[in-house]
Amino acid sequence: MRPAHAIIDLGALRHNYLLAKQFSGTRALAVIKANAYGHGAIRCAQTLSASADGFAVACIEEALLLRNAGIQQPILLLEGWFDATELALIQQYDFWVVIHHHGQLRDLAEAAIERPLHVWLKLDTGMHRVGFKPDEYGEIWRTLHTSGKVASVVKMTHFSRADEPDCETTEHQLLCFNETTAALEGLSSLCNSPGVLAWPQAHGDWIRPGIMLYGASPFSDAQNNAARLKPVMQLNSQIIAVHDVPRGEPIGYGAQFITQRPTRVGVVAMGYADGYPRHAKTGTPVLVDNQRTGLIGRVSMDMLTVDLTDLPASGLGSTVQLWGDGLAASEVAHWAGTIPYQLFCNLNRVPRHYF
Ligand code: PLP
Repeated sequence: MRPAHAIIDLGALRHNYLLAKQFSGTRALAVIKANAYGHGAIRCAQTLSASADGFAVACIEEALLLRNAGIQQPILLLEGWFDATELALIQQYDFWVVIHHHGQLRDLAEAAIERPLHVWLKLDTGMHRVGFKPDEYGEIWRTLHTSGKVASVVKMTHFSRADEPDCETTEHQLLCFNETTAALEGLSSLCNSPGVLAWPQAHGDWIRPGIMLYGASPFSDAQNNAARLKPVMQLNSQIIAVHDVPRGEPIGYGAQFITQRPTRVGVVAMGYADGYPRHAKTGTPVLVDNQRTGLIGRVSMDMLTVDLTDLPASGLGSTVQLWGDGLAASEVAHWAGTIPYQLFCNLNRVPRHYF
């Protein structure tokens, strides 16, 4: 069998969820959209089902997958519904739902609602992606309450820069949220992972951690709280070919790397078709037999090349970790000009093994 695979540590997932709850002291929706950021939504939901207060996904397809797999907890649809027919399914399956634009309000006004909905009403506090404006929010909140169509309304917003310490934008967003919602009863929810870890004054009643559940830091620099997270995914493979190349020779597509010394090149069964980032630069850290070395040359579809010159004991069959407990996904992401979220979500083709 091709040696490329991902190992998913479900104990670490549980640890990270409980840590998020411990930091905030609030209820927590585990964000498991996009197939639990590539970790496998059903297995992750089943693992957390004994402890989780609820789950959040992007859309109804993701929510149905979980319900049909037997997940009983509340499941929030973060993007709400896209057409009126979904509203019937939302009632039937008892999903919670975010309302963030006027079209949804119109659908709701026109729909026959048999079972009042649990609604999260989104306020745009400055990210300007989705949500109602502060000057219309209170009115909409009151209309929903008197409509007879909702059972409860959680006041929510989303931060755009909570991963930046002491960022004024987050302070403004928090102030806007507090001022807009102060006179409106009900629970509140503001925090994604960086909010949970770095903005305790914003914890509210419900947190919505995503990336931290998978053990990756949302910050670009070291943050103490993030250090207590345990990586959930290990992306592993093996050296499948080794050869010696003299100084001055190109390696791989586009001759993007020229050997600067006689070089022992290791070929790893891992490429961008597996989700490894094609834009990872020469020098991107890779662990071979638990020792750090670097990527050389361009990543191809199924293979990548590493420098084994300084690792004489390693060779054919040596184990390779692309990210995991020995090498943070956020460090690899940095070398590839991306974020760990994208590395995880892009995982493809490689089998996942759970323990
Ligand atoms: N809440 C909302 C509305 C989101 O869209 C997301 C993810 O994008 C999250 C929470 C989780 O964010 P993070 O993965 O940074 O914790």
